Amino acid sequence: MIVVVSGPGGVGKGTIVDAAVKRDNGLWLSRSWTTRDQRPGEADDAYVFVTPTEFEAHIGAGGFLEWTEFLGNYYGTPVPDESAPDVNGRDIVLEIEVDGAQQVKRIHPDVMLIFVLPPSREEQERRLRGRGDVDHKVLARLKKAEQEEPIGRELADHVVVNDDLEDTIAEMLAIIDAAR
Ligand code: 5GP
Repeated sequence: MIVVVSGPGGVGKGTIVDAAVKRDNGLWLSRSWTTRDQRPGEADDAYVFVTPTEFEAHIGAGGFLEWTEFLGNYYGTPVPDESAPDVNGRDIVLEIEVDGAQQVKRIHPDVMLIFVLPPSREEQERRLRGRGDVDHKVLARLKKAEQEEPIGRELADHVVVNDDLEDTIAEMLAIIDAAR
């Protein structure tokens, strides 16, 4: 099974997904590639950090399941190697924005899309600012979120509001269990 977790920036997708894969050994989290700079304090393995040239070469080689340009940087999901020992029989989790989610749905209509929403715009803004991005980037992400939300709601199999983190993680794991 492929589980796509999508939602606007600042909604807490990354935190939710990290916790879910830690608790459920049957889940494998795909690591994306990006051309954006690593944030201060961000883990080295949060992404495969590459240059635009490296990213474009990988597009040319057919190396991505999906990729997109998001606020001036490339992001992409490498084609999963389902025979790799660490994947082996596990359900694959992708944490991606809405354009990528649409692409994956087109290629694999049977993927399960969980769309995560913030409890409010104010809370989302607070979380985005908490990551230390500069003001114009926070505003750009909030604007982008408004465009993403209606598309994501329409595309989603399940919509989850991330009000309480623990509840959201439990809800997501229950949705995945039910699908299995
Ligand atoms: P951030 O810069 O905050 O880490 O990520 C920006 C957005 O890109 C987030 O919505 C995140 O989910 C999304 N994203 C991360 N990896 C990928 C990917 O491989 N493909 C796509 N389409 N979006 C991604």
